[in-house]
Amino acid sequence: MSATDPYEPTHGCRTIHVEHYDLDLSYRVSTNRLTGTAVLRVQAREDLKELALDLEGLTVKKVAVSGAALAKYAHRQSRLRLKLADKVAAGTTFEVTVGYEGYPAPVPSAWGEVGWEELTDGVIVASQPIGASSWFPCNDLPADKATYRTSVTTESAYRVLAHGTLAGRHVRAGTTRWVYEERHPTSAYLATVQIGRYEEVVLAEGPVPQRALVPAHLRGLAREKLAYHGQLMGELTAMFGPYPFSAYTLVFTDDELEIPVEAQGVSIFGTNHLAAQDGEERLIPHELAHQWFGNSVSVDRWQHIWLNEGFACYAEWLWSPLAGGAGTDALARTWHKHLAADEQDLVLADPGPTNIFDDRIYKRGAMTLHALRLTVGDGVFFPLLRDWAARYRYRGVTTDDFRALALEHAEAAGGDTLTRSVRSLLANWLDDARLPALPKA
Ligand SMILES: [Zn+2]
Repeated sequence: MSATDPYEPTHGCRTIHVEHYDLDLSYRVSTNRLTGTAVLRVQAREDLKELALDLEGLTVKKVAVSGAALAKYAHRQSRLRLKLADKVAAGTTFEVTVGYEGYPAPVPSAWGEVGWEELTDGVIVASQPIGASSWFPCNDLPADKATYRTSVTTESAYRVLAHGTLAGRHVRAGTTRWVYEERHPTSAYLATVQIGRYEEVVLAEGPVPQRALVPAHLRGLAREKLAYHGQLMGELTAMFGPYPFSAYTLVFTDDELEIPVEAQGVSIFGTNHLAAQDGEERLIPHELAHQWFGNSVSVDRWQHIWLNEGFACYAEWLWSPLAGGAGTDALARTWHKHLAADEQDLVLADPGPTNIFDDRIYKRGAMTLHALRLTVGDGVFFPLLRDWAARYRYRGVTTDDFRALALEHAEAAGGDTLTRSVRSLLANWLDDARLPALPKA
């Protein structure tokens, strides 16, 4: 019925595009009970009579369609399948309403449990790559981007953050309804809800507002540890171009988290990452860089994830010397030694579904960018990064899109000779499992 992502064959539906999600959720932190109504504005990408949405671990109470006639639906495991009475033509827009409820829990996956997760006293949503279906019916493909309105009603003791801009806050009988509007195209896995006893710390105002949400006892630490955040934002903006969204919020949960994770305009860290000793500060620029590489420019399929993680890792190396740490070239050469001693059986452009979070995706991805930079020079490399972020803003991309843009910049700057060098450099780094040597600095 639909060609899906070979890296996650049971997810997503490529015959539809969801333009907008309107999510109306009621949630009790004390019982982890979620009741939701989701209204999806769906566009048929081709003539179709059937479609499927992703929804896992929750019970569907009602499905209705307007703008087309629903014949029947069935919800089994993680797939909500809808059959229409008549074929709708490509380009037709219709609305699907799903009423659902249950006790949301993370979705098990080859990469660990992801999605809606209860904390000691609150909720975190960290969905990469396939956890979005743990809390709303969605077309869970990274390149199927939509706008959102997310309304969450919960106990008033908690603060709710969703992606987008706060559009309303209504207190009533011990509960508060928080409404967020997201006007930027957003992948389902980057849609987020964070619930906790958070207080807001203002980090910087420009070029966009930067805030931290922290438990009260971490306010002082957040001010002290993140005093540089305005400078970090300024440096990344200078290197990558304008920040793609209207604000940035760092959430620090009151629990420890193994790894931080990115969402749209938001990054989520554990208490441990705020108190981090030397070394883990690198995760702050890493997560911020994902706003450009991952969240604005998104992978068309998970196969291309080095375009997220290699770029975010390279941002760590670019920021390091500016923060008084090791130089970018020194970091690249240190990691090259590590990877040279490791098995050389991973192809960056097609690593295989189980390897998408392999550390070599990050480090070799960053090294690929460094090798490219050493070959073309800063005067070509940084404009290329900015062009990549600008040309594919809010869109899905593949490794070949990056290759083509790099060749375009090489051709413009150095004609056939430089184009040939870049073509063979990218082939060696992206398509061959053997680790190439780094060019001389
Ligand atoms: Zn990352």
